[in-house]
Amino acid sequence: MKIHEYQAKRLFAKYDIPIPEGGVAETPEEARKIAARLGVPVVVKAQVLVGGRGKAGGIRLSSNPDDAASCAAKILGMEIKGLTVKKVLIDEAADIQDELYLGVVLDRANRRVVMMGSSEGGVDIEEVAASTPEKIVRATIDPLLGLRDFQARELAYGIGLDKNVIRAFGVIAHSLYRAYMENDASLAEINPLVVTGDGKLLAVDGKMNIDDSGLFRHLNIEAMRDIGAEDESERHARAADLSYVELDGEIGCMVNGAGLAMATMDIVKLYGSEPANFLDIGGGAQAEKVAEALRIILRDPRVKAVLFNIFGGITRGDEVACGILEALEELDTDVPMVARIVGTRAEEGRQLLADAEMITAGSLRDAAQKAVAAARGELG
Ligand code: GDP
Ligand code: MN
Repeated sequence: MKIHEYQAKRLFAKYDIPIPEGGVAETPEEARKIAARLGVPVVVKAQVLVGGRGKAGGIRLSSNPDDAASCAAKILGMEIKGLTVKKVLIDEAADIQDELYLGVVLDRANRRVVMMGSSEGGVDIEEVAASTPEKIVRATIDPLLGLRDFQARELAYGIGLDKNVIRAFGVIAHSLYRAYMENDASLAEINPLVVTGDGKLLAVDGKMNIDDSGLFRHLNIEAMRDIGAEDESERHARAADLSYVELDGEIGCMVNGAGLAMATMDIVKLYGSEPANFLDIGGGAQAEKVAEALRIILRDPRVKAVLFNIFGGITRGDEVACGILEALEELDTDVPMVARIVGTRAEEGRQLLADAEMITAGSLRDAAQKAVAAARGELG
């Protein structure tokens, strides 16, 4: 689960990480009041659950309350990466001398939590990693020992911090690590962590993702969920208890089982295309759930073909077929669909789909090839 910048920063503040004073507004008038209360130049920031707001024009500096109101009017309602801005954060503007990066993430390959620092803050860290990887300093954290003081110091020296902020940096590093661990986060990031004109450190931006599997232990965070701000497809998927991850490709995939879903994505790539999503409908999916999954897949305009790969066990092939047909009755689509169903009641399922003139396949290889061909308009 993602939380907004203002929520992440308030959480960070509970761990004694310094953040700017500010407030959240949903209207220009509220923005004006917050700016007037702060009584200093402010920064008006779009609160959407994606990064890169600065580049998209979602962050503006303003010197007085009237200007803050008009900045808020411009930002509210704006679309950033497909999400509509419904809230803005009005923060005391920081006097920025230097922008640093500090983040905690899980390094799955090493099975360790890693803290990363960089002198190149304020820009996309993926960009830094790609163009100047030597500018990212890492500390691999032992789960039993936690972040050690020497590691925080190594990070500080590694990113070339000035002597007089090294102590403060150490405190922030420990705090961020605690915030990450205690909240079952999968990411906790301050980008930029700024050095201000008067030589202090300040978390100007904050980002935090919480591991969904740990959410039941953090009702305070679950309560932060801003349903209206979440991606529509992800919201529908969660409501239907589907595991769905949107990707960049063109083959929509509907599969039962996470491992099978990954194998399906691999084989789509093997035959020269890219999957549009990861979608696991889970075991024993009923027709209505299948229908909802298909609706979610088809909502993505990039999808040029759909590949169903169903391994019937508890899930029944004919039940899945009914779901597909049910969804197709109400969906007006000409996206070609290829189905491969094996296992429990596969024959019945295949027959139902064949009768509805859907493309069926005998093997996964056959199905993937047909789906890729269909996406290119080379089939049927
Ligand atoms: P993001 O683009 O979504 O990551 O949003 P950020 O909160 O990181 O802001 C992007 C950039 O806007 C920062 O790297 C800063 O350069 C600038 N910025 C943000 N807040 C302030 C501020 O209070 N004062 C100044 N001068 N610049 C700011
Ligand atoms: Mn940022």
